[in-house]
Amino acid sequence: MESQPEKLGRPRVAALDEVLGVPFRVLDDGLVRVVDYMGDDAAIVQAARVSYGAGTKAVSDDRGLIRYLVQHRHTTPLEMCELKLHVRVPMDAWRQWIRHRTASTNEVSSRYSVVTDAAQRTSPDAWRLQSDDNKQGSCGLADASLGETLSAAERELQQHARRVYEERLATGIAREQARKDLPLSTYTEAYWKVDLHNLLHFLALRMDPHAQQEIRAYATVIGQQIVARWVPLAWEAFEDFRLGAVTHSRLEQAVLAAVGGGHRDAALEAARAAGWLKPAKAGGLARNRERAECEQKLRALNLEIPWQ
Ligand SMILES: Cc1cc2nc3c(=O)[nH]c(=O)nc-3n(C[C@H](O)[C@H](O)[C@H](O)COP(=O)(O)OP(=O)(O)OC[C@H]3O[C@@H](n4cnc5c(N)ncnc54)[C@H](O)[C@@H]3O)c2cc1C
Repeated sequence: MESQPEKLGRPRVAALDEVLGVPFRVLDDGLVRVVDYMGDDAAIVQAARVSYGAGTKAVSDDRGLIRYLVQHRHTTPLEMCELKLHVRVPMDAWRQWIRHRTASTNEVSSRYSVVTDAAQRTSPDAWRLQSDDNKQGSCGLADASLGETLSAAERELQQHARRVYEERLATGIAREQARKDLPLSTYTEAYWKVDLHNLLHFLALRMDPHAQQEIRAYATVIGQQIVARWVPLAWEAFEDFRLGAVTHSRLEQAVLAAVGGGHRDAALEAARAAGWLKPAKAGGLARNRERAECEQKLRALNLEIPWQ
């Protein structure tokens, strides 16, 4: 008798089903929620093993395989899983988010609809100061009295911008033009669908300390509240091999190996040859980003910094 291919069911992840449609709050008025998903850890394993059949491997084997795939960037099995989110994000964070071209997006149209009356507010104790050594970053907080003044001015500006917008609409100005002076703090909403490989790439970039705090807040919720529930084995591998991993350039390896082996002179020679040890006019060493990153890595390994 001919054997009938078995009927496959839809993969379901109970932990993610529990929070399907549930809004996770982000910032003061933002949200992320899962609209739908496709696949699970087993779908990744199944895709990777398709060449020799799904088989009946133990969970421990699945974990090992997923860890291998993530560690060695065998990416297509992770593309078998997809996630669709509904997000509500201030436009400045959305402008960074939308740079990730590998997702599919539908954003609410402010030509078609009146823009929601919601703008992200900064509390007086949350104004960050410009970082001195990272032009794209912040460092430390403004003091309380400056914070009060800034938050009051923010409120006034947002209310004024909203009033001008609504006045334009009331006089019959088209929504597409009336919106032009709304601030970047205004919340927008979108559906965002992405596969797991590209989602992890997004999370690696946007959970990183170099990313702006606001988008980092969204990425952290997506990672820790959603992906960790959905594909716990892939999430664990991602935390181990991407989020918590440190890479070393060829030069860094030369310096680390020399310091670790007790060859301080060789480490200094490698750093000098790389141009890391040029003197500053005011004395000491001139600023050098690569050297500073190497210093961080040496500190993390409890190794001496040979040029200090
Ligand atoms: C901390 C930080 C600071 C940033 N600062 C700036 C800035 O100052 N100015 C600025 O403009 N942007 C900035 N960006 C945005 C950044 O340059 C990327 O555009 C953004 O992070 C999207 O990354 P991606 O292209 O890798 O992601 P995706 O668009 O999701 O693409 C994923 C991967 O797919 C591949 N891919 C996608 N599209 C193409 C393509 N057309 N051709 C070839 N390969 C493709 C690439 O391998 C890419 O890495 C910053 C990003 C971060 C995280």
